[in-house]
Amino acid sequence: MCHFCKHNGESRHVYCGHNLKDEQGKIICPILRMYTCSLCGATGDSSHTRKYCPINKKKKISPEKLNATLMGTG
Ligand SMILES: [Zn+2]
Ligand SMILES: [Zn+2]
Repeated sequence: MCHFCKHNGESRHVYCGHNLKDEQGKIICPILRMYTCSLCGATGDSSHTRKYCPINKKKKISPEKLNATLMGTG
């Protein structure tokens, strides 16, 4: 079953007809494969939505860590 299609509100026979990824983690959902990430441009085998974009995750730097870097010896 494809969680992406289910979340998108596709009908049951659509999201039950395929999986989101195969065993190797490659995207097999035809709808997600057509999607291009607006943050990093990933599409096809490595498609993802902005929410799951590795760039999006990296941006979450806590203020504490930022301070630690600034206060470091240098
Ligand atoms: Zn799907
Ligand atoms: Zn991305």
